[in-house]
Amino acid sequence: MRKDESAATTSAELRAHNLARLLRAVHGGGGQLTRAELTRQLSLARGTATVLVRELAGRELIEELASPADAPADIKVPRTRGRPTGVPSAHPRGPVALAVDLRDDSFTLAAFELTGRCTVLDRQEREAGSGTGVLADVAARLKIRRRQFGGRVVGTGVAVPSPVSHGQMVQPTLSDWQDVDVAAVLGGRIGEDGLDGDEGPILAGNDATLAGLAEARRGVLRGVSVALHLHVATGIGGVLLSGGLPVTGAHGSAGEFGHMPLTGGSEPCRCGSVGCWELDAGARGLLRAAGQPEEGDRMLHAEQVIAAAATDPGCAQALARVAEALGRGIGALVNAQDPEAVGLSGLAAEMYQAAPAAVRAGYLATLMRFRRPEPPALLPSTLGELGALTGASELVFDAFLTARGLGAWPAPEQKTA
Ligand SMILES: [Zn+2]
Repeated sequence: MRKDESAATTSAELRAHNLARLLRAVHGGGGQLTRAELTRQLSLARGTATVLVRELAGRELIEELASPADAPADIKVPRTRGRPTGVPSAHPRGPVALAVDLRDDSFTLAAFELTGRCTVLDRQEREAGSGTGVLADVAARLKIRRRQFGGRVVGTGVAVPSPVSHGQMVQPTLSDWQDVDVAAVLGGRIGEDGLDGDEGPILAGNDATLAGLAEARRGVLRGVSVALHLHVATGIGGVLLSGGLPVTGAHGSAGEFGHMPLTGGSEPCRCGSVGCWELDAGARGLLRAAGQPEEGDRMLHAEQVIAAAATDPGCAQALARVAEALGRGIGALVNAQDPEAVGLSGLAAEMYQAAPAAVRAGYLATLMRFRRPEPPALLPSTLGELGALTGASELVFDAFLTARGLGAWPAPEQKTA
């Protein structure tokens, strides 16, 4: 996803290239790195860094603060050669990525600043079943928020509960989302309503893939060379990340780990396959093991089973069984992909925290012998509910923080808001 531009040849290209690199480093560092630290990280000359920072500030892309925006008041900013060095941070009129976490029965819309600071703007619940209705609601809210942020909006990222191929939902959880082109239905390229059509691309990705991307950039998988991330909800999805980049397959739809027969069985699955792992280790599996109906808000009911396991022996037994199935599948995937660590979000994190011994028993049982002395760590998510949203915002910033993306950022006097 993130690509360095090919070699810059002219001095103008080199400058644009370095501006993008510096801005990416500010973004990646979450607005916590001083100018001196960024200069070192990018191997820039101090004078060059000063000029670049001044230009980015002049274009209202960053603002240099005396200390990190989110730092506690008593943190001292390091000094270089006796002089204070500022902290390049998000500009108050700087770029904003809008992000949407789309679910069957609800959606969340948030705005992300350059440094990753997130403000949740809208949360809307809806009766399950009408996918078209949810999308219409999302489009309406997006139109309002684009107008609110005006020229600051550089794109919209959308996390969807479906494998995504070329921007389309290819096998979504709701039938009326089948083959829907997300950008086409949420697009804001409308002249007469006051939008100027410059609010950047609309980029869609699978929710579990984006949750993993977010953990690699800002969460528990940061700095992990090869990471496997698993997100368990009604189904199980995830992503393999190599050097922080998702391995998304030939068509962009890799990571459907829930639809592998990792724990045996021959039951047909909603996906068209049989014996899928998510039938044993997802929310459905947990509800079935606890003898509960699989209707309604399955995630909520599954969470209730996990909470009840502390006092109810039936729920405890169900949790232990499903947690072990989760662990067995993780072991099989680790055998296949040799990650350094495994991130867990959604119900996977909750099950691991509630029944770590059962997950580990399943995990060690299926791991090949040579891996057992040092099994890859299982790491519960630190981003939680914000994972998919954060990943969606990263899609937008990956597209924006390039020489080409920045070229579209208007000079301060040309902005609409
Ligand atoms: Zn399946």
